[in-house]
This record gives sequence, C-alpha cells and structure tokens, in this order.
Amino acid sequence: MDERFRKLVQYERVSKKAYDLAKRELRAARSSCQHEWIEAKYNPVVREEYTIPGDALGTMGEDHRGTWHVHRSEKPRWSRTCAICGKVEYTERSDEQITRTPRF
Ligand SMILES: [Zn+2]
Repeated sequence: MDERFRKLVQYERVSKKAYDLAKRELRAARSSCQHEWIEAKYNPVVREEYTIPGDALGTMGEDHRGTWHVHRSEKPRWSRTCAICGKVEYTERSDEQITRTPRF
C-alpha cells in the first residue's frame, strides 16, 4: 500500500479506538451522574409532506400508478436534557391533565 494511504488507514484505526474509548468513558460517567433535568420541552417527530410522482403521462395499463401525496405528520414527543452531563432523553408518553376553572 502507498505510504500516504497506509498512514491514513493507521490514523483512522487509532481515531476509531480513541472514539470508542471516549464513548465508553462518557457512558460510564453518565451512568453515575445524579442528573438534574432541565424542564422538558415538546420535541415532536415531524415527517414533512411529500409527493410520489406517478407514472408518466401516456403510460396506461392496469398497473398504472397515479400521483401519491403523503400528508405531513407529527408524532408527539418530549425531550429533557441533564444540566450536568448533557444527556438527552426522549419520551412519547405523557399524562393527560384537565384543569377546571370556574366560569360565572
Ligand atoms: Zn446527568
């Protein structure tokens, strides 16, 4: 192998090891964190609308596909972040809360 490529491959290998080690150490440190959660925020999973173009004009037959439009969708989700270690957690679960206020 060319010297330049050999060095790049070596650099990639060393970097990957350092990355894996940092990831393990961060996970271990976070597992012992006492987590101070910042207020949760609404962070929905959004899929923007899109259109699948149908078959070109002039093409016919029983397997002809027309234009297909997929509407935008929003799935409720919340996230919270730890002020100490930066861990982010997500949840799609929530409790319903009904508040009643008197009306005169
Ligand atoms: Zn934490």
